[in-house]
Amino acid sequence: MADILLGQSAADTYFTNAYSGYRLKDYSTCAVTDSITLKLEPIGPATCPKCGQPCYKFHSMSEREVRCAPRDGFQRTTIVFPLRRVRCACGSKANEVIAWLVPHSRITNKLAAVVQADLRAGATCCSVAGKYHIDWTVAKRLDKEQLQLCFSDIDLSQTKHLIMDEFSISKGHRYATVIMDADTHQVIFVCKGKSGKEVKVFFEMLQQKGYAGNIRSVAMDMNACFPSLVREYLPNAVVLYDGFHVLQMFTRDVLVAAKKLCQQRVLESLCGKALNTAKRLLASAQWVLVKPQDELDEREFDKLRKLREHNQLLNDLYPLADMIRNLWKCKNKQEAARLLENLRRLCLAIANAHKFEPARTFAKMLKRRASGIVEVGRFGFSSCPLEGANNKIKVLKRIAYGFRDFEYFRLKIHSILPGKTKNLYKSLTSSFAVLKDSIIKCCFHVRCFHAHSR
Ligand SMILES: [Zn+2]
Repeated sequence: MADILLGQSAADTYFTNAYSGYRLKDYSTCAVTDSITLKLEPIGPATCPKCGQPCYKFHSMSEREVRCAPRDGFQRTTIVFPLRRVRCACGSKANEVIAWLVPHSRITNKLAAVVQADLRAGATCCSVAGKYHIDWTVAKRLDKEQLQLCFSDIDLSQTKHLIMDEFSISKGHRYATVIMDADTHQVIFVCKGKSGKEVKVFFEMLQQKGYAGNIRSVAMDMNACFPSLVREYLPNAVVLYDGFHVLQMFTRDVLVAAKKLCQQRVLESLCGKALNTAKRLLASAQWVLVKPQDELDEREFDKLRKLREHNQLLNDLYPLADMIRNLWKCKNKQEAARLLENLRRLCLAIANAHKFEPARTFAKMLKRRASGIVEVGRFGFSSCPLEGANNKIKVLKRIAYGFRDFEYFRLKIHSILPGKTKNLYKSLTSSFAVLKDSIIKCCFHVRCFHAHSR
């Protein structure tokens, strides 16, 4: 309680700074609930909410109780004060303006500011709700308000290259689409669904703002239905297919299918201990087969060696992942076309030799999408930001924020993937609260020096 015992004038200044227009009248503390209750009284006139003038005449007065940020070593702070209803010369009869509280709020701006700062630092709504003894829905509303202010109007005037991706929202069939700026790696658009109809909104918005002509390239998954949108809305853009998704597709459609075939063969030919060993070796085989060799640890390397030794099909497929990676790194269009043709022929040869149809399907797909593959190098496209974004979104989904509120989820994605751009979200501090579309400076610092003894 050091502050309160500072002597009247120091305490007065302290409280006037924190709760401008009021001074401390009385206080009580409770060690059991770790709480402090501060009773304040007004000093001077009230401010009229309509004309902003000082007002000395009051219609009525009511006692208000609000929550504030932890202070003076107490976790819970309650502020009790009389709220005056002004009778102003301008004709207004309304509650006075209080600098440290937005109208009708049950928490002070300072508490909002510290809650928002924790949320920006990565805390979940649940954890801040527990920490500050507020309702979960209040924490979420505060988070949403700051996110809305920071991410509602993203500047697209400099955007030239886009990356589009989709991800599943829940286990099942609900999807969302994200669009990133390939240069800044910032997520610039998120929407529910992955159909042309749902994603069209973004392209229409680009057109309306006059930026559609700026876009030079759009990278996407080969399965996506977006190429027609690009042709329709972006006159100067080429469609590119990103290597990240092609490797994913190769793993899922070719390697996993090959693994299953090998598993079937060992089941037919082996038994007892040898069968168990072979089964164990084939489990998750696709991951060591697709990983770059220099990223394998000793155990994985050993697994890879054994897999290749015992399974001719996997051994034949093994070089393909590297060929795909090299193709997507290739800067020269003719060279890329040659690499693509080699890759395609090898796929067909493997399909014939092993009677393995998935390799043939993959080869056909490469041929169909050739134009969007050989162009990739020219734009120096890297799929790293996409991989990073994918992982971050996965983590965000796992935190299970109660993302039935898609709008909130969408804003959260913007906040975790701001890219290399400067943004308000990163530069705010706990001295600022974002409330109802405005940034409010809260002048008192939270002092937590645990001066009281229990
Ligand atoms: Zn007035």
